[in-house]
Amino acid sequence: MPGPDANTIWIEPNETGGYSAQFEVYFWTGNKANRLARVKAIGKRMMGGTWRCRRCGDDLSQDKRADTRFCSEGCRKKSVRKRREEREHWMVGAPSDYMGAAKG
Ligand SMILES: [Zn+2]
Repeated sequence: MPGPDANTIWIEPNETGGYSAQFEVYFWTGNKANRLARVKAIGKRMMGGTWRCRRCGDDLSQDKRADTRFCSEGCRKKSVRKRREEREHWMVGAPSDYMGAAKG
């Protein structure tokens, strides 16, 4: 049973600010509607300029899920780690700020 691959859809931004999309329908797919929905969702993100990795800014591959935010597992993990560091920093910093505000 073949799985979905990167070549099953193509989305190309065009000069008018829109995009054109094509997708291939295999005999085994019962999910044509799902794929069309994914093409539309990805196309919308491309037009909005958010079809990029949130960490490194690379364009995302079109074989990703439409709600993908990172180009790779590495970027995703690094981003999670950074968010955690920021949160810990905030938790360490917050009580003294609060105390200072309460005294003042
Ligand atoms: Zn990335």
